[in-house]
Amino acid sequence: MNLKVNEIFYSIQGESLYAGLPCIFVRLSGCNLRCVYCDTKYAYDEGIQMPINDIMGQVAAYHCRLVEITGGEPLCQDLTPDLISTLIEKGYTVLLETNGTMDIRCVDNRCIKIMDIKCPGSGESEKNNLNNIEHLTTHDQLKFVITDKNDYVFAKNILAKTCPSPFPVPVLFSPANDLLEPAVLADWILKDGLDVRLQLQLHKIIWPDVERKR
Ligand code: SF4
Repeated sequence: MNLKVNEIFYSIQGESLYAGLPCIFVRLSGCNLRCVYCDTKYAYDEGIQMPINDIMGQVAAYHCRLVEITGGEPLCQDLTPDLISTLIEKGYTVLLETNGTMDIRCVDNRCIKIMDIKCPGSGESEKNNLNNIEHLTTHDQLKFVITDKNDYVFAKNILAKTCPSPFPVPVLFSPANDLLEPAVLADWILKDGLDVRLQLQLHKIIWPDVERKR
């Protein structure tokens, strides 16, 4: 039984509360969405089949205990929860980036889930599985990529409807690259006094001309 792997690499974690830390990335192939601002289209199909043992071997080659499983959408592959649990059993801290449309209950509770809620500007907001929000635990994080004011209002309304205040998990608002100025989003957050964290994609600041994270 294999997972289709797009790439495994070592870089700086660029998003989430773990931003800035060295991290091993396991990018799995395939995604069930086609967001208009997607910057990892190369992960839709490209990849090689690898058994979990081989992935573990490549991960072990780096001297780092933080691993992020990303994509694409990692939960499109049935074996992803097994990979996550295997990494955790070996003592790694595991982050999962997921687009919020797949049921997250299959994921080991010890894994730190960074879950998107897709806003209308993505073109995929109809596919959100909002039931996932109640399955997040206190170490997880909820992320909205904001392209414009309409997305900002959408995100605010989702939070008002689904999360009691103060929010049970950290909430990240990230301006979509090249579509919304961070300063504009910062103004909206401050004006509303919203208890969310403005998040910039650190890897794009460090390596602005590089298509991939490194
Ligand atoms: S969910 Fe992520 S990988 Fe999939 S299309 Fe959207 S941005 Fe791209």
